[in-house]
This record gives sequence, structure tokens and C-alpha cells, in this order.
Amino acid sequence: MKIMEQLYEGKAKKVFATDDPELLVVRYKDDATAFNGLKKGTIAGKGVINNQMSNRLMEKLAAAGVPTHYVQELSANETLVKRVLIVPLEVIVRNIAAGSFSKRYGVEEGVVFDSPTIEFSYKNDALGDPLLNTYHALALKLATPEEIETIKRYSFAVNDFLKAFWKECGVTLVDFKLEFGRLADGTIILADEISPDTCRLWDAKTGEKLDKDRFRRDLGGVEEAYGEIMRRLTEHN
Ligand code: UDP
Repeated sequence: MKIMEQLYEGKAKKVFATDDPELLVVRYKDDATAFNGLKKGTIAGKGVINNQMSNRLMEKLAAAGVPTHYVQELSANETLVKRVLIVPLEVIVRNIAAGSFSKRYGVEEGVVFDSPTIEFSYKNDALGDPLLNTYHALALKLATPEEIETIKRYSFAVNDFLKAFWKECGVTLVDFKLEFGRLADGTIILADEISPDTCRLWDAKTGEKLDKDRFRRDLGGVEEAYGEIMRRLTEHN
């Protein structure tokens, strides 16, 4: 397998073609952004942690029946993945009120829901990733009704699995964002990453934030938090 031209550079990752048209290489960066790119910075070691954490979690999810794009870890910050066309929906699952949910609905951060919620945003930076419902997603032809059903089913399955897994690590899974993609034959699989950039993870005992909110909210100890959450994952295995 040969790494070829760069296809795309995002906020936290670069994507490269390979000599296999069905495979891509993702290279994770230490760059961090928040508030739709308004806040920029670097988190030393983040690229390696996000790469390794996402890969370990996707391996476990695949074993639990959720198909993913993960193929093989190539280096500390590079991974071979299946090529997909990303469904332009950001899927957010929440167990506990935080972030934009708390702000939008005036609910204190930390209020635990009786059952998890799901919401969709239109993945479109120029529009600021606006919240939308499934009827809007269908009107915009972002996905078919069947695809939306599959995405919801997988997203709740990911939540069930990750919630239980992180609990064993002494971590509370508050919320997270997923992205899905279509293989050439139309099959929907989990893509993008699952990392402290895309999840809210709180220490189960102290409530300490072990995720990107430390960067977003200038809480300090950002690198230490990424290191600590990775340590919890590694020690579990
Ligand atoms: N999230 C993400 N990318 C985004 C927006 C949100 O990964 O562009 C994640 C975020 O890390 C959190 C969850 O999705 O774990 C819910 O985020 P929320 O809607 O509360 O938005 P925020 O408060 O981060 O603006």
C-alpha cells in the first residue's frame, strides 16, 4: 500500500489517497479548533491520542456489530480506512445535558436524562452546522429514510456500548458526535473519529472534564486531560 496525494485537509486531520481506490489514509494533527474555527490552538500529543483511541474504540464497536471505516493503524498518528462518501449529517447523542443543549434549552449542565437523545446537524461550515430534524434532512436529500433509520440504530448502539465501556474505566460518557459514510455499494458505516475531541468524558468520581471542553473553555490542563483519558483506555485493555 502506497500513500499518494493529499485529498483533503480538515481542522484536525489530513486525508490521503492510496494506490487502492477503496482505501484512504487519515493523518491526525495536534491542531485544535473550536466555535466553528474561531478559536485555534495546538494540543501537544492530541494527534497520536485521537488516532489510537478512535482505532481501539472502533475495533470494539465492530466486534459489537457496528460496521466502521477502520482497517489498520499504520503509525502513531496514521490509519488506513475504507473510502466513503460522508453523509453530511453530524449525529449527536446525549446522556447528560451539556454544551449547546444546556444553552439552547436552559438546562443546567449535568442533568441526567431518563433516556438518551439524538439530534442532527447539517454538516456545512459556511452555514455553521445548523441543527435540523429528519424531515429537513430528507427535504435537503442528505440521506434516504432507510439511511436515517440505520444511522439512528447504529448511533444508539454506539452509545450503549461506549457508555458501558467508559463506565468500566471510571468515566461518564456525557455526549458525543458521530459521522457516517457510504461505501461504493451504498452500505452505511461509521466513519470520522471517536476521541476526546468529539466526546464529552467526565471522571465518574470527581466530575473532572477529560475532553476538549478544557480547550474550548480555557480550563487549563488540556494535554494532561487527553493523557489521562488515554491512560484509562489503555489500562482497561
Ligand atoms: N461535537 C463535535 N463537533 C462539533 C460539535 C459538537 O465533535 O462540531 C461534539 C462535542 O464534543 C460534544 C457533542 O458533540 O461531545 C455535543 O456538542 P454540543 O452540541 O453540546 O456543542 P458544543 O457545546 O461543543 O458547541
